[in-house]
Amino acid sequence: MKFDILTLFPDIIYSYSAESILKRGQKAGLIKIAAHNFRDYTKDKQRHVDDKPYGGGAGMVLQVQPIYDCLKKINAKKGKSKTKILIMDPAGKKFDQRMAEKFSKLDRLVLVCGRYEGFDERIYKLADEKISAGDYVLSGGELPALTIVEAVARLIPGVLGNDESLLEETHGGKSKIMREYPQFTRPENFLGSKVPKVLLSGNHKKIAEWRKKHSK
Ligand code: SAH
Repeated sequence: MKFDILTLFPDIIYSYSAESILKRGQKAGLIKIAAHNFRDYTKDKQRHVDDKPYGGGAGMVLQVQPIYDCLKKINAKKGKSKTKILIMDPAGKKFDQRMAEKFSKLDRLVLVCGRYEGFDERIYKLADEKISAGDYVLSGGELPALTIVEAVARLIPGVLGNDESLLEETHGGKSKIMREYPQFTRPENFLGSKVPKVLLSGNHKKIAEWRKKHSK
């Protein structure tokens, strides 16, 4: 699966995705992550990507032309069946695990990161969906985009070392929203706080029952 991220700060994307799971997924050839700086697509000498809002008001608005040309260059068009172009936007649909599962079936995700006061309205027309990371406002779309990339990438078979762990996760396993059961590792006794005995018993049936009972 290919992730293309349009951003004014490609290094944010590359530094995060050069570690851990995203690094492994790329090394194994299961995912590709490319950041595209849409400032490279401006037509003026000062390389402006933003301008004052028509009608007045505070702040600067991202212009449509650089983002339009960047999408065109990477051959990203809305309405394709195996691709989605997502605009990062606090007023968008809230991202969740179900969405991540849906996106993980695609071949390509294109994520557009805003900055400043946001986008010229005509930019939304270039995208399939507007997605929010949650009900708060950040200064840019890079963290939301990386959140989506990571949540989606780890659902792609082979990206996580152990696919088993997907089945028992908090929101995991075939869209079931359930909480994972409590887990313990060594030591058995930490400052008097002990691991439940049943987990040390080796009795798999009892352990399964205990875990079921303690999953919320
Ligand atoms: N003035 C805008 C906020 C702009 S924040 C408004 O009130 O809606 C600048 C950019 O950061 C946004 O264009 C978006 O790309 C990104 N961003 C900020 N918060 C976000 C969130 N919760 N989810 C997704 N993107 C967000």
